[in-house]
Amino acid sequence: MKAIIYIVLFYFTFPLWANVSNEEQKLIATIDQNTEQALSLLEKIVNINSGTDNIQGVFDVGEVLKAEFEALGFKSEWKNPPEDMHRAGTLFLTRQGNQGKKLLLIAHLDTVFPKNSLFQTFSREGNLAKGPGVSDDKGGIVLLLYALKALNAQGLLDNTTITVALVGDEENSGKPTSISRAALKEAANGMDITLDFEPNGDANSVAIARRGTAQWEIVSQGIEEHSSLIFKPHIGFGAIFELTRVLNEAREQLSTQQYATFNPGVIIGGTEGQIDKTHHASGYGKTNVIAQTARAQGDMRFISDEQKQWIQNTMLTIVAQSLVKTSSTITFVEGMPPMPETAENKKLLDLYSKVSTDLGYPPVSAIAPDFSGGADISYVANITPANLSRLGPVGSGHHSVNESMDIKSFNINTKRAAVLIYRLIK
Ligand SMILES: [Zn+2]
Repeated sequence: MKAIIYIVLFYFTFPLWANVSNEEQKLIATIDQNTEQALSLLEKIVNINSGTDNIQGVFDVGEVLKAEFEALGFKSEWKNPPEDMHRAGTLFLTRQGNQGKKLLLIAHLDTVFPKNSLFQTFSREGNLAKGPGVSDDKGGIVLLLYALKALNAQGLLDNTTITVALVGDEENSGKPTSISRAALKEAANGMDITLDFEPNGDANSVAIARRGTAQWEIVSQGIEEHSSLIFKPHIGFGAIFELTRVLNEAREQLSTQQYATFNPGVIIGGTEGQIDKTHHASGYGKTNVIAQTARAQGDMRFISDEQKQWIQNTMLTIVAQSLVKTSSTITFVEGMPPMPETAENKKLLDLYSKVSTDLGYPPVSAIAPDFSGGADISYVANITPANLSRLGPVGSGHHSVNESMDIKSFNINTKRAAVLIYRLIK
């Protein structure tokens, strides 16, 4: 006869002043028990290269995770962009129910490190985990997965509606984004709340607003003539003076608006001047010839669609006031939409901050939008009524070979995410 001994382990890893329910205490204990297992899954997926261009690698990382989510009762589906976009698909993991808030949870499978990068492997040094994508965003994915695992261990995911979107091309989205982000937008339809698990530079802040981006090009034309004739009324000022007038007025008028930016990144002018698709400029001119053409390219940022419109209108007015015998045009290329700060986002932040203080951690505040770059949540921020961004682990050195993740923050933010999700789906 065999004797089976059950060993029950109690974990008192939350502070004594913690203001949490029994279910929430169990979530915390489960997360502490699973931390090492979570880190070994993170090691496994960091060691699979998934640079955005490595479509097979992105798929392989997704397949490892697919099995993990399916074990929690999620249904999986890859949605792939058209082949000529040369991007991996997005893996959607869904479950349907009718209890609590309906959640869309976003993270991404790809990294900025290509297949031939020298930075390919996971390593650990004390409280730091290092490796390509270790916090941006594979740490965010594993954090989200282990928060859901802890919920599932108590049956708390039953009868809830949750979609997890693991995007395959966040770092360099397929263009046009109207096609590459169509499936993500569709997944947001009918959802109440979107949370993203991008990493964070700060332990106690998240983003409730992000600026949108667009690109622009200004092309100026003048009369090509001998330089001795410049300033004459019938010859005018040439293309280079005209373009610099436009740029200087842009600086004067746009730099006074909070959150607005307008940055010339490349400029060329002369008798000829071209800027190719990769933003390499080429051209020539002569010191004794008035410039016939000049062009500049750059990007702009804005906190709302209204501000974007204001920048565009201001620029159209500026380019229309050409110097004598010159002309300019400006064209805009769509980038990422803004995620404006809303009362609902603020409420969600308050809820998250309450979770944090209930767990015995510091309150959480909002990152200034100027310091929060673009992310995929911006594409759905006008679809789901409430949005919170950067719930992933604390990390540093993102997009560089110094990328690291703070393991303690990984554990804390997994607990914060699990309790937040629990309170939303209850
Ligand atoms: Zn990211």
